[in-house]
Amino acid sequence: MRLTGNSHGLSTRCVHAGEVDDAHGSPHTPTYTSTTFRFASTADIVEVVQGRKSAALYTRYGLNPTIRSLEEKLAQLEGAEAALAFCSGMAAESALFLAHGRKGIVCLGDAYGGTLELLASQLPELGIPTVLLLGSELGRLETELRRGAGMVFFETPTNPALEIFDIRAIGEVAHRYGALVAIDNTFASPVNQQPLALGADLVVHSATKYLGGHSDLTAGAMMGPLALLVPVWNWRKNLGQTIAPETAALLARSIRTLTVRVAAQNERARTVAEAMARHPKVARVLYPGLPDFPGHALAARQMSGFGGMVTIEVKGSGEDATRVADRLKLFALAPSLGGVESLVTQPCTTTHHWLSPEERARRGISDSMLRLSIGLEDAADLIADLEQALV
Ligand code: PLP
Repeated sequence: MRLTGNSHGLSTRCVHAGEVDDAHGSPHTPTYTSTTFRFASTADIVEVVQGRKSAALYTRYGLNPTIRSLEEKLAQLEGAEAALAFCSGMAAESALFLAHGRKGIVCLGDAYGGTLELLASQLPELGIPTVLLLGSELGRLETELRRGAGMVFFETPTNPALEIFDIRAIGEVAHRYGALVAIDNTFASPVNQQPLALGADLVVHSATKYLGGHSDLTAGAMMGPLALLVPVWNWRKNLGQTIAPETAALLARSIRTLTVRVAAQNERARTVAEAMARHPKVARVLYPGLPDFPGHALAARQMSGFGGMVTIEVKGSGEDATRVADRLKLFALAPSLGGVESLVTQPCTTTHHWLSPEERARRGISDSMLRLSIGLEDAADLIADLEQALV
């Protein structure tokens, strides 16, 4: 069934959007692993090559029915005109920066380590100017825009402190200077936050996380207006960053259950956060759903759920936090997020290991922090696991 526009609820779109009507009556799009597609005549192929007709052509171009079907679903998740699917979240981000960031990129707040490395050192090596501002330095944004930066990029909530940025307010400032606003919506997922409706121009995802949801696929996505995605499509094509059809089918399968998974993860995360806030061995709990969290009021305004990520600060040293992480049994010690299985990671030993201790301190990332990705186990079992580890 083909859905058009956003006339249906998000759960309906997750199940039905983009699915092609198959000759055999399959309820979902078949997996076309073909790398190329046959044409009846040269005149027919020229129509497609010159863009007058849309048809399957070559899989690396993304012109493959399974990939196109997934992209229709991805677009409708974020209420976007169009979407592109990538072989990883970093592929989506690098294509975004190369296509639209060449005048300069301002990154706000913390971001995934690979994103920070790309922005802090690799893009400047290519002559692309970048500036990394902390949340406390937001006052410098207009100066950077006045200097000509063409893109403002940020995560919200951020990794690992779950800082919340005001998408609408930052969008208004950026647009006054003609800059694009691109959001990494991985942590929230489209279930909890719709950045395009709040005024952002483009959204990217590590689909490896909540969209995939089972820690068994690596993929990325970008959603936005077609006119902004066309130049990105060219970078994706020639850098060879397109998603594989097998992964596209697996990702579409996962997205059909996205809303129920994320709703259950939100619920469990809140229960775990509340239990940790009462625990005598926990110094601080960072969770946007807790009323005393600094970004709570803003999160309540711009998010429809508070997400499945909870960061705790253990009382004591970094070594104490390491001991807690190592004692956990149900939580797997692994540096990813968004899957059905709960994961724990200590940012100073993994995601933020390569920052100096001084830089981590400047960013408010303490050694005693543990980042929890809450899965779909029973909340009572997750809390019991944390309690036996926090001895
Ligand atoms: N964005 C965020 C918020 C992430 O956490 C990650 C990976 O952890 C990425 C982007 C990169 O995604 P991938 O590992 O799929 O390339």
